[in-house]
Amino acid sequence: MNFAISDEVVKDLEQFTGFLRTHLEPELAGWYKKEAIPREFFRILGKDGWLGFTLKNGEFLEQSYLKQTILLEHLAKISPGVAVAIMAHISLGMVPLYLFGSEKQKKIYLPPALRGETLLCLGNTEHKAGSDVASIAMQAEKAEGGWILNGTKAYVTNGAISDLALVTAVSDPDASRNRRLSMFLVDLSSTGVTRQKLNKRVWLPSDLTRLSFHNVFVPEENLVGQQGRGLQHVLATFTQSRIPISGLTLGTAVGAFEAGLDRAKTREIFGKRIVDFQAKSFEIAELFTRIEAARLLTLKAAWHKDQGKDFRMEAAMAKYSSVEIAREVGIWAADLFGAASVMQDHPVHKFPLDAWASSLGEGTQDVQKLIIFREIMKKY
Ligand SMILES: Cc1cc2nc3c(=O)[nH]c(=O)nc-3n(C[C@H](O)[C@H](O)[C@H](O)COP(=O)(O)OP(=O)(O)OC[C@H]3O[C@@H](n4cnc5c(N)ncnc54)[C@H](O)[C@@H]3O)c2cc1C
Repeated sequence: MNFAISDEVVKDLEQFTGFLRTHLEPELAGWYKKEAIPREFFRILGKDGWLGFTLKNGEFLEQSYLKQTILLEHLAKISPGVAVAIMAHISLGMVPLYLFGSEKQKKIYLPPALRGETLLCLGNTEHKAGSDVASIAMQAEKAEGGWILNGTKAYVTNGAISDLALVTAVSDPDASRNRRLSMFLVDLSSTGVTRQKLNKRVWLPSDLTRLSFHNVFVPEENLVGQQGRGLQHVLATFTQSRIPISGLTLGTAVGAFEAGLDRAKTREIFGKRIVDFQAKSFEIAELFTRIEAARLLTLKAAWHKDQGKDFRMEAAMAKYSSVEIAREVGIWAADLFGAASVMQDHPVHKFPLDAWASSLGEGTQDVQKLIIFREIMKKY
C-alpha cells in the first residue's frame, strides 16, 4: 500500500495555492459582501487549467480525482462556497456531458466550458423530489424538432450565473419509475426560462437559484444520453461528484479545525490558554484523528475512481464521514470563539453553516447510509 501523493500533485497544489493567493484571497471579502462570484474568476480558472479536464489532441480527459479532491480540500479551507461553485460547474455540469453527451455535444459545449467562458449547472431537485429523484414532475413533451419543457427546479447552484443547465424531466410518463426521465441540455437564455436567486445563508458567496421553465423549446439534439435514462444519468453523476464534494467537505472541517486550534492557542481564560485545559487538548486530538480518518476514506474513493475500480461504497463512506466530522468540528471551532463567532463576517462563522450545506448536496446522510448498506449487502 502506497500512501504517498505523487510529486506531480504536490507541484499542482503548490501552483494552485499561488493561484488562490493572487486571484482569490484579495477579492474574497468583496465576493462575500456581494454574495456573488464574478464570471471572470471562472475564465481565469479555465485559462490556468483548473477546471477538472484536460484537452489533449482534441480529446477530453478527466483530471485525476485524487488531484481534484486535494485541490478542493485546499480551496474549501479558505471558502467552501467558492469551492462548491467550481465543483458544480465541473462535476454537475461538465461531467454528465462528458459521460453521456454525444460526440457533437461534447465538441460544441465542452471546450468553452473548459475555458470558463460558458458556465454549466445541474437542475435536478424539485420541491417534491430531492432524495427521491425518480419522483421528478417536470414535463418534457415531444414537439416538432424537439421537446417542450414545463416545470420548476427548486435549488440550483450557479443557476443565477450559468449559461446552460442539465435538466431532468419526465419524457416518458407511461414508463416505469426507472424509465420515465430524460436529461436535457437547456440554454438558459431561451424564451420561457426565469431565474430567482434564493436568499440562502450557506455556501456563500455561491448562488442558489430557482429555475422555472414555461413552454421552453429544447431542440432534439439537446437530449443528453438516452431517452428514458435520465434517472440513471443523474444518479451516476452524483456517484462521481460524491468524491469531490467529500474533498470539499474535508476542507470545510480542516478550515474550522485550524481556526479553532489557533484560537485555543491564543485565547487565555482563567489564567491559561484554552489549549492548556486537558479537556480541550483531548478534543483536539480526537477531532484531528477523525479528520484524518475521513481524509483516508476520501483519498481511497478518489484512488479507486482513478484506478477504474468500483468506487460506489467508498464515495458514499467518504461523503458520510467527511460530513460527520465537518459538522462536529465546525460547531466546536465556532464555540471556541464564543459570541464573536455569530457575526456574519467572522472567519469561523461560515464553517458550521457550510458543513450543513455539505450534508445535503449529493445526497443526505441517510441516502449515504442507504448506499453503503446496499453495497454491504452485495458483498455479504
Ligand atoms: C446549498 C444547496 C445547493 C444545492 N445545489 C443543487 C444543485 O445544484 N442542483 C440540484 O439539482 N439540487 C441541488 N440541491 C438540492 C439537494 O440535492 C437536495 O436538497 C438533496 O438531494 C435533499 O433533497 P431534499 O432537500 O428534497 O430533502 P428530502 O429528500 O426531502 O429529505 C428530507 C429528509 O428525509 C431523509 N430521507 C430521505 N430519504 C430517506 C430514506 N430513504 N430513508 C430515511 N430517510 C430519508 C433525508 O435524509 C432528510 O433528512 C442543493 C441543496 C442545497 C442545500
